[in-house]
Amino acid sequence: MSRKKNRDAAAGELVPTYAARELATGVPKHRMNEEGMAPRLAYQVIHDELRLDGFSLLNLATFVTTWMEPEAEKLISETLDKNMIDKDEYPQTAEIEKRCVNILGNLWHAPGDGDAVGTSTIGSSEACMLGGMAMKWRWRERQRAAGKPTDRPNLVMGANTQVCWHKFCRYWDVEPREVTAEGDRFTLNAEEAAKLVDENTIGVVVIMGSTFDGTYEPVAKVAKALDAVQEKEGWDIPIHVDGASGGFVAPFIQPDLEWDFRVPRVQSINTSGHKYGLVYPGVGWVVFRDQAALPDELVFHVSYLGGDMIDFSINFSRPGNQVIAQYYNFLRLGLDGYARIQQACQDVALHLSGEIAKMGPFRLITKGDDLPVFCWTMDETYAKSASFSLYDLAEKLRERGWLVPAYPMPENRGDLVVQRIVVKEDFSRDLADRLLEDLRRAVAYFESQTGHTPKSEGSHFHH
Ligand SMILES: *Cc1c(COP(=O)(O)O)cnc(C)c1O
Repeated sequence: MSRKKNRDAAAGELVPTYAARELATGVPKHRMNEEGMAPRLAYQVIHDELRLDGFSLLNLATFVTTWMEPEAEKLISETLDKNMIDKDEYPQTAEIEKRCVNILGNLWHAPGDGDAVGTSTIGSSEACMLGGMAMKWRWRERQRAAGKPTDRPNLVMGANTQVCWHKFCRYWDVEPREVTAEGDRFTLNAEEAAKLVDENTIGVVVIMGSTFDGTYEPVAKVAKALDAVQEKEGWDIPIHVDGASGGFVAPFIQPDLEWDFRVPRVQSINTSGHKYGLVYPGVGWVVFRDQAALPDELVFHVSYLGGDMIDFSINFSRPGNQVIAQYYNFLRLGLDGYARIQQACQDVALHLSGEIAKMGPFRLITKGDDLPVFCWTMDETYAKSASFSLYDLAEKLRERGWLVPAYPMPENRGDLVVQRIVVKEDFSRDLADRLLEDLRRAVAYFESQTGHTPKSEGSHFHH
């Protein structure tokens, strides 16, 4: 390097951050510049831009973890370089994944001890794809063995399913059969599910719980209805439980509810480690009842420490650090810690829903006693002369930083607009009271604006 260049480089170091040439002219957006920039500048400009994102503590729309302990964050950053797929290179990471699968199998009452069948994934969506594929493959084997056609598979679920099940059906050529909402029922029920099945049904997806209103769908009742179907028609139709949220809630605060492998018809369960598993995104899990529930054709075997480990995944490379963070939570919290956290979330949810019910303009649809998630609509009488809608209210709350989405209920009840709150670990009772104050203030504001026309549409909210 010439002495002049050297001097320039040194001078660059001395320029105050925000007075640097790069920050005075704006940074490239659609193509790379010929030359790079100093690390501190690149850091600062990106760091600042991201401050415009919503503030995750006030994001009551998301189910995804927004807080972890500093020790967990330390482990996560120490293990950023680990690739989950390299079982042979990172055998201890693979071992930890295996332990987590066993812990979940145990939590969900899978038969066996220490030999649970399952895998980590990037989230519930991938886990649902894997559960769905296992159902499709097993159905096809059954049909072939019986000399029957295999070209028209269908999957039964509620119209309230998360978008990943629509993806599964489209990507894997399966006909979705949906139980639609009816009156005050917004989720799948046993009777309607049983009406939709036939010999081409690969399975029924039962959700624990619904993202629309936080309620659990009735796994045991659906199983019973399918038992009756089997008795009458001979079709043995499995259940996959989508426990994206509830898989980490029900075992701790509704331990007597039988929704998991205690129900013999349940063949597979998925959950999101990054929802009530309390890990930052992205980690999910799928666990199968036993070896028989996972067709061997779908599994790739990799060697690891001289042993055999299954590779059943859609992704190849994937971060290992979230899996490690999951194990951190298992060690750190134990059953008691998880139970305390989920109970605290539920207490806050019940407190909030109780207060919102008392305000006057609203009617609760759910109160947060399944998942710590609840929603409300506008009281029908109040709505007749209201100067605002829930879309207005969502927007007003946003002025204070709160993200509380308003959206229509699923198909057939799309006329009903609700607003929903997901209570997570970092949403304290105190913060909940701040939100209640802001809600009351917003209502008082709209009630003083008698000429205001209520908005009939909001920003698109994705379930
Ligand atoms: C969140 C969610 C999903 C998708 O999970 P990701 O972990 O975000 O991929 C699927 N089903 C249900 C019921 C959910 O709540």
